[in-house]
Amino acid sequence: MARALIVIDYTHDFVADDGKLTCGRLGQAIDPAITDLTRAFVDAGDWVVFAVDVHEEGDPYHPESRLFPPHNLRGTPGRNLYGRLGEYVRSWPEPWPDHVRWMDKTRYSAFAGTDLELYLRARRVDEVHLAGVCTDICVLHTAVDAYNKGFRIVVHEECVASFQPAGHAWALNHFKTVLGAEVV
Ligand code: ZN
Repeated sequence: MARALIVIDYTHDFVADDGKLTCGRLGQAIDPAITDLTRAFVDAGDWVVFAVDVHEEGDPYHPESRLFPPHNLRGTPGRNLYGRLGEYVRSWPEPWPDHVRWMDKTRYSAFAGTDLELYLRARRVDEVHLAGVCTDICVLHTAVDAYNKGFRIVVHEECVASFQPAGHAWALNHFKTVLGAEVV
């Protein structure tokens, strides 16, 4: 059995000071830890998936259009991975190693409307490790889906953040007490 790290939405728009829907300094503070964690998985040859929001400009059919300002629009630098993590990933020669993958997503959960479950099952992954932003939105919804699909869940506390400290704390507790996740 194998494990996979899902790095969720750690992009310019969600993290940088001038990002369109940013967690600001709370998101920026996890940059060293999320970079180290990603490096550890990559170096160990474990599966790594960058699950990254993509939206179309002015999409009237997307439910988030009514909820949030436009963010992570296709083809914009807002979708670039942020900070040290971004520098690390951009330092890789193309093509990326086989066990590392970029995956666009259009909903909060990395499983919604993507082939993530098939991808993980084909590789006999039974344990998903979660990192990124926001703890109580995209990380939470991904964790709920992982739970329902029977994956073991590990959430890396130093590698998740949210704009709302209260929501962040609530979600960490929810991972443990309701989704049976290991919070490390
Ligand atoms: Zn979005």
